[in-house]
Amino acid sequence: MNILVINAGSSSLKYQLLDPETGKLLAKGLCERIGIDGKFTYKAEGKETLDAVDVAMPTHSEAIQAVLDALVDAKNGVIGSMKEIGAVGHRVVHGGEAFNKSVLIDSAVMKAIEDCIPLAPLHNPANLTGIRACQKVMPGVPMVAVFDTAFHQTMPAKAYMYALPYAWYEEDKVRRYGFHGTSHKYVAGRAAAMLGKKPEEVKLISCHLGNGSSVTAVDGGKSVDTSMGFTPLAGVPMGTRSGDLDAGILQYEMNKRGLDIDGMLNVLNKKSGVEGLSCVSSDFRDLENAAGKGDEKAALAQQKFAYEVKKYVGAYAAAMGGVDAIIFTAGVGENDKAIRAMVCEGLEYMGVKLDPEANGVRGKEAVLSAPDSKVKVLLIPTNEELMIAMDTAAIVK
Ligand code: ADP
Repeated sequence: MNILVINAGSSSLKYQLLDPETGKLLAKGLCERIGIDGKFTYKAEGKETLDAVDVAMPTHSEAIQAVLDALVDAKNGVIGSMKEIGAVGHRVVHGGEAFNKSVLIDSAVMKAIEDCIPLAPLHNPANLTGIRACQKVMPGVPMVAVFDTAFHQTMPAKAYMYALPYAWYEEDKVRRYGFHGTSHKYVAGRAAAMLGKKPEEVKLISCHLGNGSSVTAVDGGKSVDTSMGFTPLAGVPMGTRSGDLDAGILQYEMNKRGLDIDGMLNVLNKKSGVEGLSCVSSDFRDLENAAGKGDEKAALAQQKFAYEVKKYVGAYAAAMGGVDAIIFTAGVGENDKAIRAMVCEGLEYMGVKLDPEANGVRGKEAVLSAPDSKVKVLLIPTNEELMIAMDTAAIVK
């Protein structure tokens, strides 16, 4: 059964058509500038690539229609008809406390996703728009919602509660939710397979290091703590997000620089992280280049990032009472051997022994630790779309 995976933003929509049983990717692409003019991108092996061609997309419905037209196109398509799409899996950012796993979408689920809009005011409305557009263009095809937050719903209260007035949790839903759940779940599953163990048998620390980064403790297949919090601003420093910080800085700098709270949050989300610290870039390739040419702030940004990731690794090993494997994934985790080495450096005391030669690989599943390393270090390319397709297929079966 082929699954169409949709990740809808407010003016864009990413799609992939996958066979979850074989993991085969049939086609993928992107609709951009929805509601403005419309640009359509389509890639399928052995077929002509469409690169940002003009297709009118006044709404998400025309965007989905363009995707379907391309998939069944006589010349460039990859399927004979829409009947070959068994179901659609939708990425939904926030499921609040309502969803601890992926679900078949019905009107109650739509309502519950709507109820989570205050928790993700930018993302959930766009995700809902994508679902409604699919329902309109593909009537009768089962749709599944896969939440970024769901995997973390297994965290115990001591991990998800903030030490804040209890009423803020009860009345306002303030708690740690965590994000990147689909990615952490996917790589944790792969890690157990690579270790030749059942998920229930292993303690893992998953480091999803990309433009946005989060670290998750996975004990027995369940997320027991994660570095992102009520929002994705928390945890390790990121491309442009600050990560954890002393809230006292907000008052001090807002007064000093005449910022209101929106201005402050704009700085913390968009002008901080390794970009803010390095004054160079949010992209780790640029940091590497600059640091290589002697730029001290770029080098500091790399060190700060790796140091904070390392501290989470130590914290989560303590939280779980041990760790069997550390996983590196996402853009930085999959490609940046220098960052991986910096994270693992100094962790020998807890049984982490990186093999410098093995650590040279990029972008494919590999064991990076030495054969005698007690804790395995694994490189596992993430595949959120495949995880969404697998969840979707399992639910509609
Ligand atoms: P997102 O969080 O947007 O999904 P990705 O997981 O795609 O991000 O990661 C993007 C980041 O990965 C880039 O900003 C860049 O810093 C980093 N990256 C990609 N390729 C490399 C590379 N070869 N070396 C170092 N960093 C890389």
